[in-house]
Amino acid sequence: MLSAWGRVLAGPIVADRDFPPFDRAARDGYAVRAQDATSVPARLEVIGEIKAGDANGALSVRAGQAAAIMTGAPLPAGANAVVMVEHTALLSDPNAAKAAASGWGTLSQGSRDENTTTNKWVEIQRSVKAGENFVPRGSEARAGQILLERGSRLDHAGIAVLASVGEATIQVFRKPRVAVLATGDEIVEIDRNPGPAQIRNSNTYSLAAQVQRAGAEAVLLPIAPDEKERLRELIHEGLDADLLILAGGVSMGKHDLVEQVLGELEAEFYFTGALIQPGRPIVFGRCAPGRAGMSAPHKYFFGLPGNPVSTMVTFELFVRPMIEALAGAKGQPLIFLKARLTSDVRTKTGLKRFLPALLSGEFENADVELARWQGSGDIAALAASNCYLVVPPDRQQIAAGECVSVMMR
Ligand code: AMP
Ligand code: MG
Repeated sequence: MLSAWGRVLAGPIVADRDFPPFDRAARDGYAVRAQDATSVPARLEVIGEIKAGDANGALSVRAGQAAAIMTGAPLPAGANAVVMVEHTALLSDPNAAKAAASGWGTLSQGSRDENTTTNKWVEIQRSVKAGENFVPRGSEARAGQILLERGSRLDHAGIAVLASVGEATIQVFRKPRVAVLATGDEIVEIDRNPGPAQIRNSNTYSLAAQVQRAGAEAVLLPIAPDEKERLRELIHEGLDADLLILAGGVSMGKHDLVEQVLGELEAEFYFTGALIQPGRPIVFGRCAPGRAGMSAPHKYFFGLPGNPVSTMVTFELFVRPMIEALAGAKGQPLIFLKARLTSDVRTKTGLKRFLPALLSGEFENADVELARWQGSGDIAALAASNCYLVVPPDRQQIAAGECVSVMMR
């Protein structure tokens, strides 16, 4: 069952019985009839004790009576409320002038097994209303009710639901396979010594990590040079997966060939740019691999700009929702938090900006400040940041103290 964590449910999970399955005490105290405790102090006869796990068949609370009860135990017949032990005192004699001890009183002395509660008296010091301090049977869910929908991604709370209905083996959707293809003549594999003008391939790995976190399986392709023939070959390979992510080669440069090669493969483009920074040149479309004699199904692809921060941001904004859809998961909205800006920010207008930033503070005070960085290739600064500050396209300046939108990563 634990291996279902992070997976997407292929069918609904249904309550196998009422939740809770009995009227469940929510406090340690005394089960009473609320009508016996309307005027306080009220003195009630204690007829027994019910622990969590005890069946409640034997006890029945009648007028003028109470039963000691522990959190999680079933409410006895006749009772309709629980008075917290903090608001009671145990009496040895119903006519005692004043309560001897508060709470369980002498109950905790001697052996409880011998039903020391019988023939004792309890003083109720605060009135309760009917229904107070217990959870009625079936109030959380009725037997047969759907607790988790098909398409839910299972987090730890979902795992708790599976456990509570005894679903040890469940059906989940297959993880989508997502191919990652980095491009660029200057990019070398990480086990090579880069030449003076070369850089190591980080995008394949950061994207694969994001793919995995999104609940999909990453297929790592070799680096494509800025050369059509080989790029085409690798795109074909990538289109075997459920989704292909290309990184690099989608800008306006002379050697940015991704769009061109996809165009030659008769790709259909849904969009070829977004009014965001970083990430403006992003492309999204679909393409049939179209091998000779075979009619292959269309596959979706993204061409992400190669700057490491661009690939990371555009993945969160565009690719992750696509992976959720391919995984059979219900759409999840992107969540933006609010935090207080700690120092002024200046940007250019026209594009929605996602700037690496640091979120700090605690409880209701969230502070955010821009990461100090050298532009969109600064991987070290990115790794030290923990979120993106989102600047609307019409803002040139945001003053410290203002509440701003933050996208977590
Ligand atoms: P491009 O989108 O191809 O114009 O690349 C933009 C910038 O990102 C260039 O400085 C590239 O060197 C860099 N870049 C491209 N691909 C990668 C990669 N796989 N790993 C690290 N940096 C990259
Ligand atoms: Mg390039």
